[in-house]
Amino acid sequence: MVHRMVEAMSQLQEEKARLQEELAALQERLALRDSDQQATSTQLQNQVENLKEKLISQAQEVSRLRSELGGTDLEKHRDLLMVENERLRQEMRRFEAELQELRAKPVAPCTGCEHSQESAQLRDKLSQLQLEVVENKGMLSELNLEVQQKTDRLAEVELRLKDCLAEKAQEEERLSRRLRDSHETIASLRAQSPPIKYVIKTVEVESSKTKQALSESQARNQHLQEQVAMQRQVLKEMEQQLQSSHQLTAQLRAQIAMYESELERAHGQMLEEMQSLEEDKNRAIEEAFARAQVEMKAVHENLAGVRTNLLTLQPALRTLTNDYNGLKRQVRGFPLLLQEALKSVKAEIGQAIEEVNSNNQELLRKYRRELQLRKKCHNELVRLKGNIRVIARVRPVTKEDGEGPEATNAVTFDADDDSIIHLLHKGKPVSFELDKVFSPRASQQDVFQEVQALITSCIDGFNVCIFAYGQTGAGKTYTMEGTPENPGINQRALQLLFSEVQEKASDWDYTITVSAAEIYNEVLRDLLGQEPQEKLEIRLCPDGSGQLYVPGLTEFRVQSVEDINKVFEFGHTNRTTEFTNLNEHSSRSHALLIVTVRGVDCSTGLRTTGKLNLVDLAGSERVGKSGAEGSRLREAQHINKSLSALGDVIAALRSRQGHVPFRNSKLTYLLQDSLSGDSKTLMVVQVSPVEKNTSETLYSLKFAERVRSVELGPGSRRAELGSWSSQEHLEWEPACQTPQPSARAHSAPSSGTTSRPGSIRRKLQPLGKSRPVPV
Ligand code: ADP
Ligand code: MG
Repeated sequence: MVHRMVEAMSQLQEEKARLQEELAALQERLALRDSDQQATSTQLQNQVENLKEKLISQAQEVSRLRSELGGTDLEKHRDLLMVENERLRQEMRRFEAELQELRAKPVAPCTGCEHSQESAQLRDKLSQLQLEVVENKGMLSELNLEVQQKTDRLAEVELRLKDCLAEKAQEEERLSRRLRDSHETIASLRAQSPPIKYVIKTVEVESSKTKQALSESQARNQHLQEQVAMQRQVLKEMEQQLQSSHQLTAQLRAQIAMYESELERAHGQMLEEMQSLEEDKNRAIEEAFARAQVEMKAVHENLAGVRTNLLTLQPALRTLTNDYNGLKRQVRGFPLLLQEALKSVKAEIGQAIEEVNSNNQELLRKYRRELQLRKKCHNELVRLKGNIRVIARVRPVTKEDGEGPEATNAVTFDADDDSIIHLLHKGKPVSFELDKVFSPRASQQDVFQEVQALITSCIDGFNVCIFAYGQTGAGKTYTMEGTPENPGINQRALQLLFSEVQEKASDWDYTITVSAAEIYNEVLRDLLGQEPQEKLEIRLCPDGSGQLYVPGLTEFRVQSVEDINKVFEFGHTNRTTEFTNLNEHSSRSHALLIVTVRGVDCSTGLRTTGKLNLVDLAGSERVGKSGAEGSRLREAQHINKSLSALGDVIAALRSRQGHVPFRNSKLTYLLQDSLSGDSKTLMVVQVSPVEKNTSETLYSLKFAERVRSVELGPGSRRAELGSWSSQEHLEWEPACQTPQPSARAHSAPSSGTTSRPGSIRRKLQPLGKSRPVPV
């Protein structure tokens, strides 16, 4: 049995050796395949290297051709080739990447692939099984050793048993021999009787001895038999042990067989795995090779295309050279061509300039017509609105009005109509309708808004008169002059003129001058002169033109608000030094600010002159009734005279009389041309709101209504259109000529009238002659 076990072991060893051999063979095959793959990849790499070389040579060829050709039309071909090259390079890079992949495969075959995992598992299992086999073999050899030991002991025991049996047989034989001898002796002795007796006795004595020896022998025999039984028992046990070890060996064999079958299966699986891996690898190599072949084919085709392109480039180069030669010839003839072209262009430009000139003439004609039309429209508007407009401004109740019933408010307004004013006079309500009524809430700006259009019309050559009329303390000076913080019409008007003139500065050259005068007791004084006491006269122009002028009236050229402020300040200083009580004096004199706007159209030479007269009239209160005497009475008489002369002139204009009594007062005489014809007049009637002033308020409002009703009738409208069409202040002078003095009466003798900005000077200021207003 042990022998069989040893035999099985040796068989197993053989099997293992065979398996190891097979494994080695497989590994060898694998190594062979790897080397094959390596060879294929190097082959592919060589191919890629070849391609690279070809590409480089192609690129060199292209660059050589480029350097040979160098023409602008060939650039496109060159670019195409470059793009092609770039594409080929990219493909090559892709190939290289693929190759790298293939190369990496044997090192880490199918990383993450299902087969490789299985194969690794199988390999693990195999090594585990091999370990188990080794362990089992160890166990088996241990068991063999034990069996050997036991067999040795058994052999020893058997040997001893044999010895014992042999010893016993010898002893038995010896004893039986002695017994036989004894029996023989006994028989012989019996035959010899007496002696025999003795002999018997001796034998009997000797027989007991023998019997003792026999029993001893039997005891020994018994002992030996017991030992043999014991040895048999041991043998039996050992046999049992042997049997169990046989069983164990059988089990182990079965296990080994199972392991072997498993090993075989794993081996088979591994083989299959390797087979499929092999197939995969072959397939990948084949595919890569096929792809590489296709790419190679494409590269070859491209190369062929590039070659044909190069072939087509050569004719293009030839054409280019031809073109270049043609151009060279053209360039040689270019100066002649240029001269001719210049000639024709010059002729064209001359023609164009002529056309533009005629267009300009046409435009100028249209412009003049437009200007006339505008003027006409304006006049029409003035006619429709009435060229004398009257507005009322009610001042707020002030501290000076005092308290009590006399200081209560007597003036109310119409919420829906801003041209109505209601006055409660001696308990009776009286209403007046004017062009506009400003309540005490109206600001300086509100009032200015109303007169703004009139002021700008000066720029267009219209004469404008703005009067502030009303009893002393009704707000005339506030409206005209205002306060430094809140200036009135005077300063705002000049500011507006500046900004308007500024806007037109690109086309027109405007000059704005101001004069300030007062009329006190029918004496005209220059407020800006060096000698304000000097009486000024209104005279006929010595040139026999019949025009009026005021010799010695100072005129300032103003260009900014600062200039105006200087002028006003100067006028004020003059007035203050002359009169100790300025307030009283100013309420009894008419203060005039005369602004003259002269303009020349830079392109046409057209000239305009407009005059703006801003008049702060003397108080309209009727002092005569209060029984004034002396100088106060004289003042009152003069005021009355001039205000009623103003009323008469307006009435004459209203009734379209042939004779308008402008000469009845210095004021109307001075303002003659600003009150007649297409001039515009605005009367601001200042009203005190309190009860104690209602009589004067009533008087002022009546005067206002009377003035407002004066309108130019259809006859005078005709005449007005006639006077406008006479173009007195609109003259055409061709451009680039020295501007001639205007024929307009009030601006005629302009010799020595050039202004020095910001400086005070004296000059003769001619005044316009009275123009008859046709009936
Ligand atoms: P006039 O010149 O008619 O004699 P003023 O212009 O001197 O009257 O006005 C008299 C007073 O009333 C002044 O103190 C003035 O400031 C004030 N005043 C006149 N009108 C207004 C107004 N609209 N708002 C505020 N105060 C005014
Ligand atoms: Mg005043």
